[in-house]
Amino acid sequence: MTMSDNHKMWADLGMDVETHDLLCEALPQAFGDVFLTQENRPKGMDYYNMVVGDIHGIRPAELIQAQKNGQKVVGTFCIHVPDEVVLGSGAIATGLCSGSQFWVPGGERVLPTATCPLIKASLGARFDKTCPFFRICDLFVGETTCDGKKKAWEILATDAPMYIMDIPQMKRPEDFDKWEKEIKNYMVKLEELTGNKITEESLHEAIVTLNNKRKALKRLNEFRKLDNIPISGRDVLLITQIAFYDDPKRFTQMTNALCDELDKRKEENVSVFEAGTKRILLTGTPLSIPNWKLHQIVETSGGAVVCEEMCTGIRYSEHLVDEEATDMDGMIKNLTHRYLGNINCACFTPNDARIDDIIRLAKEYRADGVIDVNLKFCNIYDTEGYFVEKALEEAGIPCIGIETDYTDEDAEQLKTRIGAFIEMLGK
Ligand code: SF4
Ligand code: SF4
Repeated sequence: MTMSDNHKMWADLGMDVETHDLLCEALPQAFGDVFLTQENRPKGMDYYNMVVGDIHGIRPAELIQAQKNGQKVVGTFCIHVPDEVVLGSGAIATGLCSGSQFWVPGGERVLPTATCPLIKASLGARFDKTCPFFRICDLFVGETTCDGKKKAWEILATDAPMYIMDIPQMKRPEDFDKWEKEIKNYMVKLEELTGNKITEESLHEAIVTLNNKRKALKRLNEFRKLDNIPISGRDVLLITQIAFYDDPKRFTQMTNALCDELDKRKEENVSVFEAGTKRILLTGTPLSIPNWKLHQIVETSGGAVVCEEMCTGIRYSEHLVDEEATDMDGMIKNLTHRYLGNINCACFTPNDARIDDIIRLAKEYRADGVIDVNLKFCNIYDTEGYFVEKALEEAGIPCIGIETDYTDEDAEQLKTRIGAFIEMLGK
């Protein structure tokens, strides 16, 4: 696709092409600064560079083509919403979490300022007409995780076709029953949208397809446990972010090909980090594309990000859906278990399993320190930080809590704080 093809596509989508051009101008610079300055990147990163290089061109064009062929596109905002159901109905799932400051002012026009940037950017991207994914989707699926999102969906629904899943806030047996019912309702909704029946075969195939994607991501993350880490945290974050909207089969294939390359690096003890680099685990709120700020700061301050206990990290891929069942009831039960039981969002009470996970992951990835990241105005993760920091202290793992947003205004201050934290780890 040429740039003018893209412009025509964006105009046809009813986008504000002029304003969007400003984003197109800023992104390559930001991407170049964070990613292309790295030395000895794996060759397999070329694919992801290409995908991001034309982020609003390549994949949107594929989605539009699929729509012309009769397929529907479903956009989601949270990893609790099961993509298997979308795939099983013959539709395409795409993540919609927005990670750029570019969309925040548009969100602030309709939302209180004291809303987290992720929510503001999502609404801004739609109302400002500056993201093709937010124009293409036939259905937007929200959830009742945090209050900010719950109320924002009502505003988004004034402009976009919305469907809401009501996620329980506890994990008692009756909550699993409720989530199972929600998944069944979602299946009906998608059958209505697509005109296709979700069959035992189509749902099972979707479970296998998405498990294969998770397995590729798990394989990728394993390399971060090595002494000699053959890929940077920045690159793994980028790959994880792309996983949310790329074609799942192609993504799996490309990620496995990259892992083959990393296997060779492993044999040869190749590391992209200098000896003595401190291993950092990040925990907290999601880092949606193109939010690369923290990884960039950590990895240019003597640290390596070895794991993200986040929705844009290990939470997305660590747990598979049990593939054994092939009957409808069994598969829905397995999806219910995976999508309620195995995701430890701070919207749950209590949420001890997340605290246990942080300690376990810090040990598995041999983290020297943990950074507890909070997106500004995210009340639930901020509050849960009390337990996170307490548990880490008890486990003797150094930790700092930081709060940030999508602007660059705090970059210098963060560099100073994170730099001092990493230096302290060396002592
Ligand atoms: S942090 Fe919670 S609400 Fe946000 S994507 Fe993750 S599970 Fe969903
Ligand atoms: S970061 Fe916090 S406030 Fe923002 S959408 Fe996620 S849970 Fe809600």
